This record gives sequence, structure tokens and C-alpha cells, in this order.
Amino acid sequence: MGAVLKDIYANRKLAVSFELFPPKSDAGVDGLFQHLDVLMAFQPDYVTCTYGAGGSTRARTLEVLEKILAKYPGVPVASHLTCVGATQDDLAAYVAQAVEIGVGNIVALRGDPPKGETEFQAVEGGLRYGSELVAFLRGIQPALGIAVGGYPETHIEAVSPEADLDFLKQKVDAGADAVITQLFYDNEDFLRWRDKCAAAGITVPIVPGMLPVISLGQVQRLTSMCGSKLPAKLLQRLEAQAGDEAGQLDVGAYHCARQVEELLDEGIPGVHFYVLNKSPSTSLVCRALGLQQR
Ligand SMILES: Cc1cc2nc3c(=O)[nH]c(=O)nc-3n(C[C@H](O)[C@H](O)[C@H](O)COP(=O)(O)OP(=O)(O)OC[C@H]3O[C@@H](n4cnc5c(N)ncnc54)[C@H](O)[C@@H]3O)c2cc1C
Repeated sequence: MGAVLKDIYANRKLAVSFELFPPKSDAGVDGLFQHLDVLMAFQPDYVTCTYGAGGSTRARTLEVLEKILAKYPGVPVASHLTCVGATQDDLAAYVAQAVEIGVGNIVALRGDPPKGETEFQAVEGGLRYGSELVAFLRGIQPALGIAVGGYPETHIEAVSPEADLDFLKQKVDAGADAVITQLFYDNEDFLRWRDKCAAAGITVPIVPGMLPVISLGQVQRLTSMCGSKLPAKLLQRLEAQAGDEAGQLDVGAYHCARQVEELLDEGIPGVHFYVLNKSPSTSLVCRALGLQQR
């Protein structure tokens, strides 16, 4: 088992992590590794792979992580895991398999309701909230590193920002080692929320999740799904590059690098890049930040 999150965030000045998703096809996996070769040159502190709705990609998630462990020995990895459609036995079986291949960390999530459903429903013998998953994981694998999701602009289903924060505290109290945030494009939202987390007694590392914009269409789709807002200035700059793909990518990378630069001055413990299995924009940002390339 590689390094766990608690040690990663304790030992490094700035821990950099990359989040991938499991491609649907073998060709997609090959393509992913071409991009990952470029990204690994930045020597990330760990790499994560998401877990598809309803566990649809669970085999692929472990396949991708196993390949990463074989190709880049020594790099710590994390598997995302959700409660969707899974009994506690299913969850335990997945975690046992993950640990067996060398996964030392889990990003523990409730997951979204399956397509066509508006409300999350736990299956019989399953779990209802991220906090229950964290407690369950701590019970079966005490040594695992565990991260949970945090929402600077409030989770889309939350009854109020205050309630959402209380539930985040529950996840941390259940045993999470770190909080990784939903993507956001306005640092003020993050910083205000981080202050509230501190006031609520959340003391684990809070790591901003950054998704460098690739195109206006992409970011509008993503932000409408997760409820994050797009600042007017960023929107205008992207619109000014309408029809120019490379121009939009540059605008997105510039905005992201500026965001991270500002957040570094605010003492963030790390940065988690949603790389979406492509290297160009995250590489631009990493270079702009002066991250060393091997
Ligand atoms: C870093 C990150 C990675 C992600 N990776 C994946 C992935 O790999 N696969 C995937 O499918 N999705 C992923 N997601 C999306 C995530 O599954 C959704 O945002 C999901 O809707 C919420 O998951 P959660 O664990 O944050 O939920 P929870 O913390 O359980 O919260 C869900 C909602 O319930 C409320 N709530 C929490 N606890 C209680 C309680 N005890 N009583 C009443 N209400 C409560 C909260 O306020 C919130 O509105 C990721 C999100 C983030 C931020």
C-alpha cells in the first residue's frame, strides 16, 4: 500500500493530485495513458480515479488504478467509491479488492441519484450518506486514507449552506483525512466557505478542486450540473474566443493558474486537478505555476 492522505498532506508543502475517470473502451484506456505520461512528469503526490454511477465502471476504475501502479511504481493512488446501488457487502468486497491491488486511499462519496431519479435512495443493506460510508470504511479498513467531497457553493440538494456544513463536519468526524472540493471559479466563494469550515471545527486539510476550462460549452455543461457559478469576467473572456478552441483553452488555463496562485498565498495544503483524462490544459497550468517536470 502506498502513502496515505494523512501523510501526504502532512509531509508536503503543496500536494498536487490528478483526478482521472475510467474510459469506457480499451482504446480509451490507451489514450488516457498517453496523456498520463505527460502529466506524471509533474510528479503528482497522488492520482485518483472516479467511480461511475451505480458502480457501472467499478471494474474499469480498478483496472486503471492497477495499471497506474504498475506503470508508475511508487505513486500513491485513490479510488473514488460511492454508495449508489451498493450493499455494505458490495462496498466491503470492492474495498478488499482495491486494497489487494495496492490502493491506499478512498475518496468516499454518496454519489448522485441514477439517471431519471431525482432523489438518492439507498438500496436495502446500503448506505445513505457520505458520512455513513466514511464510518463504514474506517470500521473495515482503519489504515485507509479517506477523502470526502466539500461544496464551497453548497451541495445542489442541500437544504441550506449551514446544514451542508454540519454534514461535512459529520463526514470529517466519522474519520475523513481530507476534504476535496467541488470545482469553483471564484476564490472568494472558497475562502469564505473555508473560514466557515474552520469556525465549525473542521481541521483536516481542505483541498481546492480545480478544473481548468477547456471550452465555454464544456464549462457551461459542468457548472449547470454541479451548481458552481461562472464569474462574468471569465465568461466574457471565453466568449471573446468563440470559435477558437486553442484560445478558449488558454483563457481557461490562465484563469486556473491565477486562481491557484492566489490560493497558494492563502495557504492551501494542495491542489486537486480534475484533468478529465487530457493533459494540455493541466500541463499549461502546472508549468505556469512552476511545478518541476522530470
Ligand atoms: C472531489 C469529488 C469527487 C467526486 N467523485 C465522484 C465519483 O467518483 N463518482 C460519482 O458518482 N460522483 C462523484 N462526485 C459527486 C458526488 O457523488 C455528488 O456530489 C453527490 O451528490 C454527493 O456526494 P457526497 O458524498 O458529497 O454527499 P453527502 O455528503 O452524503 O451529501 C449529500 C447531500 O445530503 C445532505 N446530507 C448529508 N448528510 C446528511 C444527513 N445525515 N441527513 C440529511 N442530509 C444529509 C448534504 O447536505 C447534501 O445535500 C464527486 C464529488 C466531489 C466533490
